[in-house]
Amino acid sequence: MKTPDEKGFYGIYGGAYIPEILHDSVERLKYAFYQAKNDPSFLKEYNDLLKNYVGRATPLYYAKRLSKRYKTNIYLKREDLNHTGSHKINNSLGQILLAKRMGKSRIIAETGAGQHGVATATACALMGLECIVFMGKTDVERQFSNVQKMKMLGAEVVPVTSGNMTLKDATNEAIRYWCSNSDTFYIIGSTVGPHPYPEMVSFFQSVISSEIKQQLNEQIGRDYPDFLIACVGGGSNAMGTYYHFLEDERVKIISAEAGGLGLNSGHTAATIHVGTIGIIHGFKTLLMQDEDGQIIEPYSISAGLDYPGVGPSHAYLAQIKRTKVYAINDDEALDAAFELTKLEGIIPAIESAHALAVLAKESENFKPDDVVVLTVSGRGDKDIDTYIKIINEKK
Ligand SMILES: *Cc1c(COP(=O)(O)O)cnc(C)c1O
Repeated sequence: MKTPDEKGFYGIYGGAYIPEILHDSVERLKYAFYQAKNDPSFLKEYNDLLKNYVGRATPLYYAKRLSKRYKTNIYLKREDLNHTGSHKINNSLGQILLAKRMGKSRIIAETGAGQHGVATATACALMGLECIVFMGKTDVERQFSNVQKMKMLGAEVVPVTSGNMTLKDATNEAIRYWCSNSDTFYIIGSTVGPHPYPEMVSFFQSVISSEIKQQLNEQIGRDYPDFLIACVGGGSNAMGTYYHFLEDERVKIISAEAGGLGLNSGHTAATIHVGTIGIIHGFKTLLMQDEDGQIIEPYSISAGLDYPGVGPSHAYLAQIKRTKVYAINDDEALDAAFELTKLEGIIPAIESAHALAVLAKESENFKPDDVVVLTVSGRGDKDIDTYIKIINEKK
């Protein structure tokens, strides 16, 4: 379940649907990745960076007041405390080490909210590599502080003006650039894209569940929870959270995708609920599309969850009912963000707030002795304007 078959499929989802011109690049990447993941010197360099540069292990925090509110035991996995503010840096550092190993000197990336762009620009500054970030023009305007950070870190930010001018369009442009520049390494920011990207990104994020296992053991004397909860955009923080627990049937796994204004509103990003089988950005998955296969533009208050597809592993896990998936609407996520802030003094990213909103939906299934682990994928600094606007509207 955590790794695909030889051709990169999780059930019927995944694979590599790429133009001939990328075939060599992807084959070489696959070879380099499978070698690196079993090479102690690569893993040592990676783990040293996670510890001393990113600040891992991130805490597994027993949220006492939140637990009382939902009459169970809730532990928060604090990915918001990572350097650069989210889990994205775990993956960017893993891939940049691979790029270095492959002798690449130029890095490209796509970004939506800008978290992956900032993490990748950071990794490039650290390694002294050239960095180009593709970002939809709409997102460049609405995520201005992240654009400024990327520039300060030395990256070139390319505003993309096709389509909706958001994440999907930025990804199209990055793939286009990759096709005509085979000396470039493309760092994809989530468990999407052609095989081996979903497997590779899951692997680099799996440190999250390794730590959860160890920390639970230290704190409560057993190394698994009863419930795991995470938000799913492309699915990388969720795959990282689930990785070492997927085969453990004692663990119930719950994902939150972005409902937007509601499943039937025409303004949603809840791909697993409303998507049908299709191909996007080099892989087969559940996709929001019309009868002619035209992509329906997604909508979510959260730029990080605003994607018309979903990682192939998540489409599969939902299909075989290994995961239960909620669509969380904008207003429910906002309520959950304010609740966490008030009860625990933690301002979460609006993406992470979608996972927090699951607590209210699922609480009738929690027993007082249960252990619930929920990943807070990022911090809310980038979302303060959104939060303040809501506070002012409520006055
Ligand atoms: C990018 C992002 C997400 C969504 O991406 P996944 O690959 O699904 O994890 C969620 N939370 C934060 C804070 C992000 O920056």
